[in-house]
Amino acid sequence: MTYLPGVEEVEEAASWWPTRPAGRVGRAGNVVGRAGNAGVAGFARAAAGAGAAALLTHAVPSVATLRRLRTQLMPALAGIGAPDHVALTFDDGPDPASTPLFLDVLAELDLRATFFVLGTMLERAPHLAERMVDAGHELAVHGWDHRPMLLRGPRSTYRQLYRTRELITTLTGRPPRFVRPPHGILSAGFLLAARRLELTPVLWTAWGRDWTSTATPLTVLDALTPDLRGGGTVLLHDSDCTSAPQAWHSALGALPEFAARCHDRGLRLGPLAEHGLRPGPLAEHGLRPPGPLATHGPRASEAPAG
Ligand SMILES: [Zn+2]
Repeated sequence: MTYLPGVEEVEEAASWWPTRPAGRVGRAGNVVGRAGNAGVAGFARAAAGAGAAALLTHAVPSVATLRRLRTQLMPALAGIGAPDHVALTFDDGPDPASTPLFLDVLAELDLRATFFVLGTMLERAPHLAERMVDAGHELAVHGWDHRPMLLRGPRSTYRQLYRTRELITTLTGRPPRFVRPPHGILSAGFLLAARRLELTPVLWTAWGRDWTSTATPLTVLDALTPDLRGGGTVLLHDSDCTSAPQAWHSALGALPEFAARCHDRGLRLGPLAEHGLRPGPLAEHGLRPPGPLATHGPRASEAPAG
């Protein structure tokens, strides 16, 4: 990693990422930060306390998380795939309390998806891995726990991904292909670790804001639909382990209608493995945006979420 952000960028990131209320975050996928998530609030305090200088040691430019640039320059990282396909992804599971219900609904809908799992969750519910794979779903790496990668050093970051990848491989017999950091927050250490572990980082183009206490199937559909288009990647959650209690009901309830809307638009819905991720003009694992993009890129209001 040769590019590091300017001090202003890090300070700006520390100031707006975690503290912006979810109800005012703008369009789906535009802002980093999740309401009701103690990890994000902790990140805000820690980032502010750590100061820009410390973060510079392994922080990645906000360009990597700026949606518009990301989509154009790093479409695979953004989750852009084949124009007639939408990737369906779930984060934060597997959760014995909720994931089986998602698997039931997906089976009824004859759909398969990608589950970005936490190692801590998978360790507690290893039996779900076999069920997911047997149903044709894909397991991917979210992290061992949900602490933002930006707060970790390179060694800790590598360990997070390595442990989770190994657990998935052991339980399923298949090495995972994809990785998505908690909150969608990238760091240089994360990208380097992903590269070493042959994991492809993928974020998303649309989310359901399904983590809040007020989320319902209708609000999830309302959040997803404006950004629903071919080639997109949808983010939902099959666990409330980092969300408001029982928030997963909203995503679960939205699935049948969301699948119907995709079908009506002639869009196939499925896992990332079938998404046809497109490489972009920037190497996906060696982000080296030119200086002007880094120092004069879009403001925080255009950045993505996690
Ligand atoms: Zn997550």
